[in-house]
Amino acid sequence: MEQNQHLLTTDSKLEDLKGVGPKSIEHLNTLNIHSIEDLILYLPYKFEDETVVNLHDAEDKAKITVQGEIYSAPVLAHFGRGKSKVSFHMMVDNVAVKVEFFNQMYVKRIAETGKTVKVTGKWNKARQIIQGSKINEDLAGVSLVPQYSLKGLIKRASFRKMIESAFHEVTIQPFLPVQLIEKYKLWDLNQSIYELHFPTSHQHLQQARRSFAFCELLLFQLKMRMLNQLEQKDAPNSKVHYDIKRVKAFISTLPFDLTDAQKQVVNEIFRDMKHENRMNRLLQGDVGSGKTVVAAICMFALMTAGRQSALMVPTEILAEQHAESLVQLYGEQLNIALLTSSIKGKKRALILESLERGDIDVIVGTHALISEPVKFHDLGLVITDEQHRFGVNQRKLLREKGNDANVLFMTATPIPRTLAISVFGELDVSTIKQMPKGRKPIITEWAKHEEIELVHEKTAREIKAGRQVYVICPLIEASEHLDVKNAVEIYESYQVRFGADRVGLLHGKMKAEEKDEVMNKFQNHDFDVIISTTVVEVGVNVPNATMIVIYDAERFGLSTLHQLRGRVGRSSYQSYCILIGNPESETGIERLQIMTQTTDGFVLSEKDLEMRGPGDFFGVKQSGLPDFKIANIVEDYRMLEVARDEASELILSGALNAPELSNLKLRVEVELKVHQLD
Ligand code: ADP
Ligand code: MG
Repeated sequence: MEQNQHLLTTDSKLEDLKGVGPKSIEHLNTLNIHSIEDLILYLPYKFEDETVVNLHDAEDKAKITVQGEIYSAPVLAHFGRGKSKVSFHMMVDNVAVKVEFFNQMYVKRIAETGKTVKVTGKWNKARQIIQGSKINEDLAGVSLVPQYSLKGLIKRASFRKMIESAFHEVTIQPFLPVQLIEKYKLWDLNQSIYELHFPTSHQHLQQARRSFAFCELLLFQLKMRMLNQLEQKDAPNSKVHYDIKRVKAFISTLPFDLTDAQKQVVNEIFRDMKHENRMNRLLQGDVGSGKTVVAAICMFALMTAGRQSALMVPTEILAEQHAESLVQLYGEQLNIALLTSSIKGKKRALILESLERGDIDVIVGTHALISEPVKFHDLGLVITDEQHRFGVNQRKLLREKGNDANVLFMTATPIPRTLAISVFGELDVSTIKQMPKGRKPIITEWAKHEEIELVHEKTAREIKAGRQVYVICPLIEASEHLDVKNAVEIYESYQVRFGADRVGLLHGKMKAEEKDEVMNKFQNHDFDVIISTTVVEVGVNVPNATMIVIYDAERFGLSTLHQLRGRVGRSSYQSYCILIGNPESETGIERLQIMTQTTDGFVLSEKDLEMRGPGDFFGVKQSGLPDFKIANIVEDYRMLEVARDEASELILSGALNAPELSNLKLRVEVELKVHQLD
């Protein structure tokens, strides 16, 4: 039985392999290879393509492989500190090129006049020189060369020999259901893994990748499903007995009518809350679509059931803003408290006490709400706003706080559903696809630094019309100190231009009370312009602000730019976003161009994902995404969805319990065990 826990069956050990002595064992262990299974699953991280190309198609500076006849005897030259160069000429596709090899003296032996060889190297088109990295006499040899990360411990050729002999020693347990193999035209594992080590053609390698990736994704999805089933069990406490009459009455006091989209998501959420199962729902809606009021309605409902809600936001400023606007919305109808790290001493103790006693209905704060010893009387709903960087761990913490508390994640960054599930667990998704009535799309322009005067004129125009303007300062990642210096400089120049007492400054080094004061003055229109580092990034709501100017915009990621832009366009006035930047990199240019072309958060988020990859997107550490060997969540996104559907089917139909699939079930159970030990 024991052996079945593994993918492979073998009676052999590493030391039984040909050519593997104690020294090799030591090196293999350093690479975390302890068994034949480990060895066989130590897959290449990439493949060098050494397919011969036509020189006329080759781009300058590209790494290419060409084939041709050597027509001049190789010349060896030595220069300083034992360095050497071997050069010769060869005829490639009717072009005479020079080939140079640095510090590879053995080339002189191989490169004989009249011989036809393959050369791989970097092509310098202007000088017609190939700077060689590899020369090969074997013209028929493989053109796809696997690259392993061997840390210089083992030679690649020896490593490949070990793998080759390992394949003779093992049987790879098939575990994919036959019908899936047929349906998706997959290869069996044995063939896929072998091809990944010893690729025979692009096409075959692709097929091997596909098959292996599917295995990984299916296992992952099965694991997630089972894990969620374990977590799901009973949650009797999650049912909320709200008073629908009072909720409706509250909605009718709002200063505006809900959009149809808002109504629909409110219904979806309420349906969940009525249910025995704990709610785990993601609410997506572009910036400005009105998620906060949805949250407010839900928390109101909890109050009518005599239960508590917590609203978690990423920054203190945002917590304060939310608390304030909730007070306005609710009036005297319920008790709201704000808990941030700057609330200390007696005041804090008092809040914690009344929270535990149940006198507070709604508490707003940063993630300190769940990480600190905060006790609730009866927490029934936790809402997180703009917190998609929250990962699996926080999710768990959060759930444990409120026994069976319902959870609602709100985000303006639309995450493809399947990805969201990977991070947040099994969840339902609601989307607000519609903006409140009368909103005009934000006009986004890109200005170069030398056009700053034009930007100032536009700023002046908005101010004259009675509107307000955000100015976001350059971001200098290395030093917050420099960020502040920059902000102060810009602040002073704006003061000169727009009046010393009409411009406010906001940056990360200010005390919370100072920030508050500045933000309040902006909110009350005591300032026309606010200069800020990215602290206003998320959530801040000043509907009278109609223009946002972002300096050095190319330094910000797409999601951040979109969030920043979402600070305006919150009223029926036409709003503007001006990106200032002279980007040098292609991605910088691309980013600014995309921003001027679309205001659709979904398009932007997909682009962002494409440009940065999922690790960055979610914050590498906390994402809870597994390390796949071959599968890539962005590139293989479709396959992830397919795997998800198939996993559901296998579980729901009971097929997973059939004797034919005992191998698969065992594998999932092994993975689950590993997961629970984390
Ligand atoms: P976000 O989804 O970015 O959190 P907010 O909830 O902050 O958006 O809402 C943006 C602005 O739109 C706020 O000023 C809010 O009061 C207003 N708003 C929300 N819903 C509506 C609506 N149905 N009609 C008009 N204005 C609305
Ligand atoms: Mg918001």
